Amino acid sequence: MTVATQANPLLSLDYVPALESIGDDYYDEVAAADFPQTLLRFRNDAVLQRLGLDPTAVSDDHFVEAFGQFQGRSPFLALRYHGYQFGAYNAFLGDGRGFLYGQVIGQDDHLYDFGTKGSGTTPYSRGGDGRLTLKGGVREVLAAEALHALGVRTSRTLSMIETGEQLFRGDEPSPTRSAVMVRFSRSHIRFGTFERLDYLDRTDLIQRLLEHVIEYYYPAAQSVSDRDERYLQFYRELVERTAELAAQWMSVGFCHAVLNTDNMSITGESFDYGPYAFFDQYDPKFTAAYFDYSSRYCYRNQPAICQLNLRMLQKPLKRVIPETEMTSILDQFEDKYWQFYSQRMLHKLGFESLPEPLASDLINQTLDLLNSVMVGYHDFFRSLAGQFSPDWANDDVTIFDTTMQASDAGAQVLLEQWRQHYRQALKTQSADELAQMSQRLRQTNPQTVLLRPEIEAIWEPIVVENDWEPFYALLQRVQHPFAAS
Ligand code: AMP
Ligand code: MG
Repeated sequence: MTVATQANPLLSLDYVPALESIGDDYYDEVAAADFPQTLLRFRNDAVLQRLGLDPTAVSDDHFVEAFGQFQGRSPFLALRYHGYQFGAYNAFLGDGRGFLYGQVIGQDDHLYDFGTKGSGTTPYSRGGDGRLTLKGGVREVLAAEALHALGVRTSRTLSMIETGEQLFRGDEPSPTRSAVMVRFSRSHIRFGTFERLDYLDRTDLIQRLLEHVIEYYYPAAQSVSDRDERYLQFYRELVERTAELAAQWMSVGFCHAVLNTDNMSITGESFDYGPYAFFDQYDPKFTAAYFDYSSRYCYRNQPAICQLNLRMLQKPLKRVIPETEMTSILDQFEDKYWQFYSQRMLHKLGFESLPEPLASDLINQTLDLLNSVMVGYHDFFRSLAGQFSPDWANDDVTIFDTTMQASDAGAQVLLEQWRQHYRQALKTQSADELAQMSQRLRQTNPQTVLLRPEIEAIWEPIVVENDWEPFYALLQRVQHPFAAS
């Protein structure tokens, strides 16, 4: 066994006791499990650089010592929270298989959390084993890297270590292998962290936590001296960040799958990737979690669910922020969402901007078309990127000449209408703008998308012959999704 040493760069980072400094009402101190085996399967050197570390100075053993054996640091904090799960309040939540390992200031001067997943039981494990399956770890690593590369504001994974235990799960062939992950994120403070304090009737703790959140994660609000205005500015920015996040998921065809309030970050960052999926065909009702029987968290519902969760958050916050003003801020959600979403969709269509109502019409027509032709969401945009020509602005050139086949007469009509619309949009663009479209299309529409079959295909060799090469190859592709494959 490696001996804990201060020479480990992961242990000599400048850890900041930011959450600890506001008192012990928000967490419990816990210990990590002692694992029979610690095999490093993934390390994120890009994240090391964001922490100011030279990856060549951090060995695999350093990772294992810090994030597998959990030597050389304490305390570890299991965070307390509640949350609405599928609409029902659950007061028996909290970090049940993870803890806050530590907090550090990144090169960008932002505070970041190292949070574990699968590190052992806590007071919140509720009879669970406190463990993470290796497949669950592999899936979260891939999701976070894929989303990050597509421009979605997301947590990352710092490391994933296989831990040599046999786990039993209803949704994986069991026994199944185990892992422990360290997540790198802005914060693990959730909407549900505030909900718990409301449940406990602790206005004082809500206010203290809110001041903490603003101090570390909302610098613009922090600079406002008037208390009421500072708090409103925070809520306004949270609403805006959350609307932007929903727009990011929607434009890349991602379904998070479990948008409970305990999975909503107070910083507006996406995290906690369980049964998520990217869809292949455009399908508004696409539901990623097999246990989401009512499709509550289906693809199309995500913006409205985010808005609903922001409304639920008003319940704890109204103890310190006027409710009527929060309501009028939240009324802006749909407009904000559409601004972010339409901007991203215009980029996917190759445009920097288009005048209204042309922009909204073109986006809606594109979605209608994708609903009715036999072409995948990502395939469509990839084809557009591959075939685009500025000549399409000319009346006598057929847009998507041979590759787009309409499945029936109705779809044929939609395709024709879409071609006309697209051409009309092209005609609003200058020659210079037209010349830039091809590059924008290629930089916005991924060649590689993390579809479920891709994940299953890399999982099979891991299970059958412990072959990790396909996993690393897929990881490489999702980290560089715009490269020609
Ligand atoms: P999640 O679905 O990962 O967001 O987890 C929801 C809640 O269940 C959280 O309180 C988790 O900590 C807890 N939980 C999930 N899996 C386990 C497990 N294997 N052991 C203990 N707690 C768990
Ligand atoms: Mg969770």
